[in-house]
Amino acid sequence: MEERRKELAEKLVREGYIRRPEVARAMLKVPRELFVPEGLREYAYEDRPLPIGMGQTISAPHMVAYMVEAAEIGRGDRVLEVGTGSGYHAAIMAELVGPEGHVYTIERIPELAEQARERLRALGYDNVTVIVSDGSKGYPPAAPYDKIIVTAAARRIPPKLLEQLKVGGVMVIPVEEEPGYQVLYKIVKKPEGLEVRRLLPVAFVPLIEEE
Ligand code: SAM
Repeated sequence: MEERRKELAEKLVREGYIRRPEVARAMLKVPRELFVPEGLREYAYEDRPLPIGMGQTISAPHMVAYMVEAAEIGRGDRVLEVGTGSGYHAAIMAELVGPEGHVYTIERIPELAEQARERLRALGYDNVTVIVSDGSKGYPPAAPYDKIIVTAAARRIPPKLLEQLKVGGVMVIPVEEEPGYQVLYKIVKKPEGLEVRRLLPVAFVPLIEEE
């Protein structure tokens, strides 16, 4: 598996998805095979999303790399992730923020949250907190955040997430601009207002917002 993990990381470097050495190191370290259902482990190092149960998916490795690079996740960051899923993306970010940072990750499906929590605990990630809740409301107790990563497609930017982002902070979020057409946005919260960049078309499961 380690050889295949290395080949995948090298491919993502060649393709330009991984730009910083610390992102390469994180992808080399986190065992993606432990974040997918046992029967799908042989596909863990193919660059594609895989089903994880409850109608949800683990994102493709290139998308995880692209999002952490776009959000500039780094040492000491306090990160909020909306959409824990398998916990893989959270583990990659836990490697990047290191012991001086923290990743708060929210999942609305309790069964997925519990599995992710158990995997992250078994792998020793004590700088990750998994929360069961509607992530479109954010997680006020640990706000404000340096970075916010959303891994499910929103119809609009959730205002509570913007409120919980630090000035100078970055949010990366897929937005469904029209039915069936999603674009990944990078939003920087500047003192003078929001800087919004549209990065590329993407395909995520929907962000389910409770009323
Ligand atoms: N980051 C994940 C990983 O590494 O496996 C992939 C996440 S998957 C593409 C999106 C996840 O967002 C699903 O597990 C889904 O249940 C969750 N989700 C959807 N709406 C949500 C909401 N409002 N709050 C929290 N989680 C939500």
